[in-house]
Amino acid sequence: MTDEKSVSLFSLNCREASRLLSEAMERDLTSRERWALWIHTRLCGFCRRFSHQMDLIRRLVHKLPESTRQKSFTEAITLSAERRTQIKKLLSEASESGH
Ligand SMILES: [Zn+2]
Repeated sequence: MTDEKSVSLFSLNCREASRLLSEAMERDLTSRERWALWIHTRLCGFCRRFSHQMDLIRRLVHKLPESTRQKSFTEAITLSAERRTQIKKLLSEASESGH
């Protein structure tokens, strides 16, 4: 039996990877978690893309006026449909205008 709480470097699945990517917005990951994530995103194109999007979202959220910012990124991404639409719009604007 493996300890469910410990992150195995090579057996990280996509669900765990995306959870860690979300958590990385709010807390410092352990070096083990960062390694697991790094390895997973080398192997998995989907999570690599997700990682880039989270990165982009993090930067875009910082550009939003203070008053419209959510307390936590997780809330912003998972709870608020309105915010999600807003972020989607920002993302499409960002990709339209190049970098
Ligand atoms: Zn994955």
